[in-house]
Amino acid sequence: MSWKRSEPGGETNVRAMICGTTALESLENELEDFIVTTMELPWSLARGRIGAAPKAILYADSMERDDLELQIEKAPPASMVLALGGGRAVDLGKYLAWRRGLRLVTVPSVLSVDAFVTPAAGIRQQGQVVYVGEATPDPLVIDYELLRTAPSWMNVSGVGDLLSIHTATHDWELARDAGKSEYPFSESAVGRARLILNGVREKRDAIRLNSDAGLQAIVDGYLQVNEICLPAGHYRVEEGSEHYLFYELEERLRRPFMHGPIVGLGIAVLSALQENDPEGVVGLMRQLGLPFEPGHLGIDRPTLTASLLALRDYVRRREDLWYTVIDERPLSEDRIHRVLEGLDFDVPRID
Ligand SMILES: [Zn+2]
Repeated sequence: MSWKRSEPGGETNVRAMICGTTALESLENELEDFIVTTMELPWSLARGRIGAAPKAILYADSMERDDLELQIEKAPPASMVLALGGGRAVDLGKYLAWRRGLRLVTVPSVLSVDAFVTPAAGIRQQGQVVYVGEATPDPLVIDYELLRTAPSWMNVSGVGDLLSIHTATHDWELARDAGKSEYPFSESAVGRARLILNGVREKRDAIRLNSDAGLQAIVDGYLQVNEICLPAGHYRVEEGSEHYLFYELEERLRRPFMHGPIVGLGIAVLSALQENDPEGVVGLMRQLGLPFEPGHLGIDRPTLTASLLALRDYVRRREDLWYTVIDERPLSEDRIHRVLEGLDFDVPRID
């Protein structure tokens, strides 16, 4: 037996967890009367290892709310949902579990997004991403072998939302110092978040290699972020100016990005604007093998420059965004030239 069952407890949004190289096989004892939400590839990799047959298989094709409702209406009665795959398959499973009040078993096939530990399901309504409902995996199944069927850089991408603690906590401190923090500042939340960042730094080789310990470190990091952010009711320690650059670029270019790499680019650029050890965090991202360079993302220098020139107006227009270094330090052409120094625009694109 090469798996272990545990109960993380606390406000992790995970009721129980099964981790190991044969975690999938352990599901034989858990699953009965269940519906699978998945996609073709992960299901073909996992189905032979699960010793039970589903009552129905729902594929995550469209995430538009009306289509999801139709899909759910047609699904047979069941007592459990097995959400198996990447972000979309997991979000479909969360949505179904929430709408029908079913037990949710979540099996991520890649760690590139944190959908497998967050409570709300990310779906689309008239094309816009909205977060609805609430679902808690019971259990969350972390099968290292299944995760290693994904390209290793994709699992490494999962650290993007952990490394963002570097810039986000700095932004929160700037907001506090300026008397503009939207939430009561918490020294202890910032301290605990930075310990998560240290954990990533210590495990960087294991994470790059996608070893059991490295994959587990990413999952544990997410649970620790939840323990800080769910009781607080906001993600201030993990989200700040580095995400705002990504939002601007997404609106400007009107195409989706892999979350970890684009957040990584934001960390590189905004840590430089913050004068917050950019060399250290960029070096760490390179050691981890996170493809965060503008070239990896297909973003050229004129585009990134234009985005940065527009960034302050963009965040001021968006009233839901918090006070960050972007409000504090104007991005002149001169300064942009400096913060982009050393970034690679010529590496091949990742997608
Ligand atoms: Zn994020």
